[in-house]
Amino acid sequence: MAQLSDDCFAFGGPMMSVDKAVGLITTRVDAIADIETVALVEADGRVLARDVAAPLPLPPFTNSAVDGYAVRNADIPQAAERAFPLDGRIQAGALAQAPIKPGYTARIFTGAPMPPDAETVFMQEDVRIDDNGKIVLPSGLKPGANVRPAGEDIPKGHIALRAGQRLRPQHVALAAAFGLVGLDVVRRIRVAVFSTGDELASPGEPRAAPQLFDSNRFMLMAMLRRLGCEVSDLGILRDERISLANGLKQVAGSHDLILTTGGVSTGEEDHVKAAVESIGSLVLWRMAIKPGRPVAMGIIDGTPLIGLPGNPVASFVTFVHVVRPTVLALAGSLPEPLLPIPVRAAFSYKKKNGRREYVRVSLRRAQDGRLEAVKFPREGAGLLSSLVETDGLVELDEPITHVEPGQDVGFLSYADLL
Ligand code: AMP
Ligand code: MG
Repeated sequence: MAQLSDDCFAFGGPMMSVDKAVGLITTRVDAIADIETVALVEADGRVLARDVAAPLPLPPFTNSAVDGYAVRNADIPQAAERAFPLDGRIQAGALAQAPIKPGYTARIFTGAPMPPDAETVFMQEDVRIDDNGKIVLPSGLKPGANVRPAGEDIPKGHIALRAGQRLRPQHVALAAAFGLVGLDVVRRIRVAVFSTGDELASPGEPRAAPQLFDSNRFMLMAMLRRLGCEVSDLGILRDERISLANGLKQVAGSHDLILTTGGVSTGEEDHVKAAVESIGSLVLWRMAIKPGRPVAMGIIDGTPLIGLPGNPVASFVTFVHVVRPTVLALAGSLPEPLLPIPVRAAFSYKKKNGRREYVRVSLRRAQDGRLEAVKFPREGAGLLSSLVETDGLVELDEPITHVEPGQDVGFLSYADLL
């Protein structure tokens, strides 16, 4: 388990910027040291635990990049085309044969090893065969053309994958190209997830008239799984300090992170703060972010706790800025800063100076070919439809006070957040 000190998340300022929050998390959360080996088919999405040095060069041997005809550099026709007698035929997977004879050309196929002394390949589309069956090669080809030298992709010994890399399909492909059957990865981060609130009923259970079905827990568990976590679904805790405290205390030793949603505002029925204070330590981070409300950060028996707000959109957005970096830090992942891409705003918007705001938008292709962000028409932080019917978030930095149609804004796709 991660063992964090009680004052790990302490923060003195009245309002914390998003960058400050991410910075504090990245520097104060220690990575888990447990490593396991997984087969390549299981490696996607896991965090690599050790550097991987190339055990062989890629490609492993010099080979032809095209179907065509191989020659020595000295034989490349200079001023005019020239007819060559054929000597040899090398298929992909065949051993390279004897050195190519001066003045001859060899038939060669894509991926086949170059014969010794042959350095250049003519594409078959660029040659013709004359009446005598000779191969007529045109003049002017660059020496070394259409050849893939051994190690041109990755030389042997090069650190090709770094510890902390969150593995994607292309990283798995590279490990396979090295002939590896498995990779050492950090064990999955274990996260306990609770919803809190008397107004919540679990799907599948009866719902009383003044209740709504708990949706945040399923959203958060799905987001955590996308970050590679092992999730314990711990259901709903009632708005009552003692049972909240008991529920949280029970999972502290056996999980790396406790995540709750709801009950972190400052109303009389927001009991998460008092519950955590009775069994551990807690600070409320008032983050300068919209949508979002106070986020609770705490430590129970050395286990970090994050309490997200209850409104679904606030919960989603604060997850991205607080839970995501925490999970990445616990897994020892290299930081993955979110980089908004510029799109054109098709909306106007007023915002508060000094606060980071996120606008739910859909993308469309404008007449001139540029991508335009269309704002979801309503703004409530409780509107699940606003997340379902949009493509991502426009990020408006702290100093911005208004957006006019036509202005460039930064867009974060939902697909890139997890
Ligand atoms: P709270 O942060 O506890 O004050 O909750 C704010 C609002 O968010 C509540 O009034 C609920 O409508 C909504 N809410 C809280 N928890 C959930 C949940 N788990 N799923 C869906 N909506 C929730
Ligand atoms: Mg509540």
